[in-house]
Amino acid sequence: MKDAKVRLYVDHPLGAGQSVPLDRDQAHYLFGVMRLTVGSSVLLFNGRDGEWRADVASAGKRAGELVCSEMTKPLHMPPDLWLVFAPIKKARTDFIVEKAAEMGAARIVPMQTEFTNSERVRQDRLQAHAVEAAEQCGGTFVPEVSDLQKFDRLLADWPADRRIMFCDEAEVGQATLDLASEGADSAGPWAIFIGPEGGFSDTERARLTSMKGTTTVSLGPRILRADTAAVAAMTLWQKTLGDWA
Ligand code: SAH
Repeated sequence: MKDAKVRLYVDHPLGAGQSVPLDRDQAHYLFGVMRLTVGSSVLLFNGRDGEWRADVASAGKRAGELVCSEMTKPLHMPPDLWLVFAPIKKARTDFIVEKAAEMGAARIVPMQTEFTNSERVRQDRLQAHAVEAAEQCGGTFVPEVSDLQKFDRLLADWPADRRIMFCDEAEVGQATLDLASEGADSAGPWAIFIGPEGGFSDTERARLTSMKGTTTVSLGPRILRADTAAVAAMTLWQKTLGDWA
């Protein structure tokens, strides 16, 4: 059996003997770009059933069929961490979504704040970036990317048990996230909040710090760009409370 090098996300159930039909884009990618033929193997995941080896049963220009043979990895869920961030320029927003998926976010939430320049995001494009990141990093889970949410609405509907790691540039040089001071109730759902280039407004800062489960943290002695801050915050959280331990 040839080694499967291609990893593909499919929105289809996976299991032993399960047939997986391919759409036009997938057939083009596997047979046109990657030059796979009948009998070649690929690795499939759908975010729910783990990773499966599958063999090409038929290969056409516009369609094809794969058949699952064996599970190669069980489903590995990330910790229950949301990354909430204010979208910035397109390429940097794409970067944030890609890195969040690689680093193990369970959900990615673009948020419109007072000083956010972009009024809308292409949710489908961002979701595709999360899928690609999962394909590339060997993940078996794909975080959902939400539509753009307004800051006020998001906090008005905030789940009571989800704690907030509020990354506040005004805290520069103060304490970072400290497991010891979080205590025993630190496990469970969390969300990281990263502001836009213009930072959070005073009203937003007050709203965030008034929430019961908020921990305000600094990301060191320098002000980071939002994309750097997102990666730094996830690293800190994963190492302190997540699955990097
Ligand atoms: N224009 C703002 C900086 C915004 S940086 C200013 O000059 O004050 C974008 C976001 O990254 C911030 O809203 C915050 O969430 C995060 N961030 C950047 N550097 C940080 C730091 N040192 N500590 C905590 N959060 C930081």
